[in-house]
Amino acid sequence: MKKIKCKTCGNRFYPERKTRYTVSEPHGISATFSGGIKSYDAFDCPACGCQIVAGIRLCEDAPVTEDD
Ligand SMILES: [Zn+2]
Repeated sequence: MKKIKCKTCGNRFYPERKTRYTVSEPHGISATFSGGIKSYDAFDCPACGCQIVAGIRLCEDAPVTEDD
């Protein structure tokens, strides 16, 4: 797994699934231009506590249910 680096203090750490959370851009920014709210994976730096936004997180489609 790739380490991510804190832009604030320079600390490098492995992003863990359990510490990941999802953030969204505030209303009015991306919604204006792309017609939707973008979500990003975010982690908190274990050293300084700053939020690190890792990358865009695409919306998951609803699970496909198969009709038998
Ligand atoms: Zn940090």
